[in-house]
Amino acid sequence: MFERDRLYIGGSWVSSPGDRIAVENPSTEEVLGHVPAGTASDVDNAVAAARAAFDGWAGTPMASRGAVLDRLHASLAARAGDIARTVGLELGTPRKVAERVQAGLPLTVLKGYADLAARPVPEETVGNSLIVHEPVGVVGAITPWNYPLHQVVAKVAAALAAGCTVVLKPSELTPLVAYLLIDAADEAGVPAGVLNLVTGTGPVVGAAIAGHPDVDMVSFTGSTATGRAITHAAADRIAKVALELGGKSANVILDDADVTRAVKVGVGNAFLNSGQTCTAWTRMLVARSRYDEAVALAAKAAASYSVGDPFDDATRLGPLVSASQKARVLGFVERATARLVAGGPDAPLPPAGHFVAPTVFADVDPSSELAQEEIFGPVLSIIPFDSDDDAVAIANNSRYGLAGGVWGSDDRALAVARRLRTGAVDVNGGAFNPFAPFGGYKQSGVGRELGAYGLAEFQQTKAIQR
Ligand code: NAD
Repeated sequence: MFERDRLYIGGSWVSSPGDRIAVENPSTEEVLGHVPAGTASDVDNAVAAARAAFDGWAGTPMASRGAVLDRLHASLAARAGDIARTVGLELGTPRKVAERVQAGLPLTVLKGYADLAARPVPEETVGNSLIVHEPVGVVGAITPWNYPLHQVVAKVAAALAAGCTVVLKPSELTPLVAYLLIDAADEAGVPAGVLNLVTGTGPVVGAAIAGHPDVDMVSFTGSTATGRAITHAAADRIAKVALELGGKSANVILDDADVTRAVKVGVGNAFLNSGQTCTAWTRMLVARSRYDEAVALAAKAAASYSVGDPFDDATRLGPLVSASQKARVLGFVERATARLVAGGPDAPLPPAGHFVAPTVFADVDPSSELAQEEIFGPVLSIIPFDSDDDAVAIANNSRYGLAGGVWGSDDRALAVARRLRTGAVDVNGGAFNPFAPFGGYKQSGVGRELGAYGLAEFQQTKAIQR
């Protein structure tokens, strides 16, 4: 059992007057452990600690902050095995993906920020003005459950590098791995108050952070609905808000693409982390002349997935995070009127756990619920198109714009990629770059994370005239 009964505030482990939250193992439906259900007064204490630490941390040279992040990276890297195991237990990510993505990616991102801070960019002059970049202040970081350490580190490492202090609230569904980061920070000597942890629910702890008069910026990753509520809460005091929200990304397969590879990579992308990935290419758009071939390949690929215990090396698809997430995803599958070519509500599944079979629908109407709503489960919709213009129009027919893929001859695929209204596009399987700006157009968000753009998000820009 994972019993973590304290919050981390002002460099100390402190108890909360609130209740406890039970953390479930979604593969077995058993209770894994507990964390405190923090309260608004815990948030007040954490914000006060972050405020008290701010001047000292903001005044620490950036290169020295980079050295602290380097030590934090070393302490966290020593916990890589625990991180992968913890996320495998609290989220159900299969072991290899947990090691590579859930543990490996945040370590890469953290090291990247340590390196960026170690080599600060020289200050710029514009005419008679010196342009300086200063930390925004006290940051409230509110994160979801699907990449529970990566999403925390993408905020915390950038904010700390910039000189901000942080109050972190991880998702109540997967709070355990955040404790490993705090253990590492404590061990690495991150100064007291610079990084604070308040676990708890969204409506209590999240809302208290979003509405707190002394929080200068809220950095949020999660659903568009919650992003909207946080924006409203912050608007009253004109606090800065950065939002990484949902997606419904298109994978466009042109008629001159390597269809076999495009479908294989596309299905893998759509089903990564059981489809609980904001950047998932959940709409596969295929040129009509290659459509039947692509549908058959996708159905075959989906049927080859083994679903079950994330700690069994044969498993490629773990459970969804919770019973309510499973019910929500099955609702979409049951209401769908498109042609089911793999999976579906009646496919065989393990007897316990929140599993949903990898499911593929063909002939999906681009304006239907299947093609428009973020399902956040292993459900892929395939849609035919008649020309490049048609593909671009269908891809852009979404209130989201987070990611995407294009496959075809290089120049043509790049031309289509430029026309997609989305924050990132991979051409012919271009690899995810953890140092490139990450973020959304439209209702997928505001602002950018990762790399130098992510650091800049936590800075104010000042002009000093001489
Ligand atoms: P969610 O919005 O329900 O919860 C996210 C976080 O917000 C949690 O910590 C939650 O406790 C908190 N929260 C909930 N209500 C709140 C409130 N009223 N005020 C303040 N905080 C509140 O999202 P989720 O279900 O945890 O995550 C899934 C969603 O996140 C999906 O829509 C997915 O696309 C999105 N997501 C986006 C990105 C991205 O970078 N764009 C990355 C991962 C997930």
